[in-house]
Amino acid sequence: MRRSIVIGNWKMNGTLESSRDLLQKLRNRVDREGSRGEIGVCVPYVFIPEAREILNRSPILLGSQNVADQSSGAYTGEISARMLQEFDCRLAIVGHSERRLLYGESNELVAARFRQAIDSGLVPVLCVGETLEQRERGETFDTVLAQLNAVFARSGVQSLLNAIIAYEPVWAIGTGKTATGEQAREVHAFIRNKIAGIDEAVAEGLRILYGGSVKPDNARDLFSMPDIDGGLIGGASLDAESFLTICYSV
Ligand code: PEP
Repeated sequence: MRRSIVIGNWKMNGTLESSRDLLQKLRNRVDREGSRGEIGVCVPYVFIPEAREILNRSPILLGSQNVADQSSGAYTGEISARMLQEFDCRLAIVGHSERRLLYGESNELVAARFRQAIDSGLVPVLCVGETLEQRERGETFDTVLAQLNAVFARSGVQSLLNAIIAYEPVWAIGTGKTATGEQAREVHAFIRNKIAGIDEAVAEGLRILYGGSVKPDNARDLFSMPDIDGGLIGGASLDAESFLTICYSV
């Protein structure tokens, strides 16, 4: 049985004060009421030390929104997996579509970042998904498969034993357009079946999250679909009440 997980991706939002407030609210409610599945928050790098203090001994997992593709050295602006580990990060998003599209991160670069996370014991949250044009051209499965294949070529399918995949159709991210449960389920099943073709045990244990305009009012329907093991939540993770409602919908 896979344990569901809901992860917040704060992107480049908030201030030190607002992030303290948000974390404290999450922590207080989870301390009081517990959680159904796992919960994680991927905060901007500079808030990680503060988040680590506030979440100390909380079951809420701390994560980053990216990780360097190299272990150390002359890579200005990058943050290594080891540095993140030192601050008790457990999760690292890799291959978010905003990184792929706005910052030109290729499948190969994402695969190298994924590898660094795996090698250091961080759990990579590998984002895959198609643009609207790709969907309209009937290229959804090919796009997702190419994104996955780059990771398999570098790290092998077994690496997914310690990873999470997030299917995030680009056309649904931050747009208010959500994939229907059926659209999401179809791609989740495709991903799981492809992996099962290589290693059934890995496919069975792998958590595949849906991301793209998940809100309190659509979370339950999405999470009730087979093969959807939780969510990666952007906008709605910036409000404690909304995020927790989503977390408690699993
Ligand atoms: C995301 O950033 O991963 C995301 C899913 O964003 P949103 O929920 O705002 O669409």
